[in-house]
Amino acid sequence: MQVSLLPALSDNYIFVLHDPDQNIAAVVDPAEAAPVLRRLEALGAKLVAIFNTHHHMDHIGGNKELMQSYPGVGVYGGAADRGRIDGQQVFLEEGSRVEFAGRTGEVFFVPGHTSGHIAYYFPPATEGESGELFCGDTLFAGGCGRLFEGTPSQMVDSLSKLRELPDDTRVWCGHEYTQKNLQFALTVDGDNPDLQRRFTEVKEARRRLEATIPSHLGIEKRVNPFLRWDVPELQAAVKSKDPVQTFGRLRGMKDQF
Ligand code: ZN
Ligand code: FE
Repeated sequence: MQVSLLPALSDNYIFVLHDPDQNIAAVVDPAEAAPVLRRLEALGAKLVAIFNTHHHMDHIGGNKELMQSYPGVGVYGGAADRGRIDGQQVFLEEGSRVEFAGRTGEVFFVPGHTSGHIAYYFPPATEGESGELFCGDTLFAGGCGRLFEGTPSQMVDSLSKLRELPDDTRVWCGHEYTQKNLQFALTVDGDNPDLQRRFTEVKEARRRLEATIPSHLGIEKRVNPFLRWDVPELQAAVKSKDPVQTFGRLRGMKDQF
């Protein structure tokens, strides 16, 4: 399974999963159809699955057109998003499994950004390979999604599930927000040398107009304030000793940043 990323809209990423042996592909969160159709044509691959993480238009906007071009395509999304995702046929819950190209993806129910949000995790197929996490707008590189339909406590539960995955897991998130996220992170965790180093790398990558995605979970655990609600430095920065309150205060500050 090869994963590639397509920039879409102003700052979205669409992910194309490709199996060259069977000439099939799947797409995660098609914000729009056109770039996906062009990539499928270039690959000579047939689209067999659309994996949606949540119902926001910038993640499902291409569903209808892709279904017209590939009438047999399976459309997957969270069970709690029933009625909100165009063409949805498969309703996934915590612990559900999806299949693509001989790989089995595990589904996590991760409400907080929206009430129906799910994430897809494909564990490594062979030794030495990395797992792939498609987390939509739940976990970003250096940040997390806004709480449109959830509470800090829900989001901490959701992010806790993702934080348990192996450090070398590749994190494919839905937006190029990394630089701005890390700018915020520096205001609350500025003495963190891993964060300082990561910010420099990201700034350079963006200057060259490169994507900062995928990130790796190991890096995120060290630099992302929204995975660090139990770290004393961050608790001190928001004057709390409670993990959920720490997270909530950080999220509130980021909303104003
Ligand atoms: Zn969203
Ligand atoms: Fe989004």
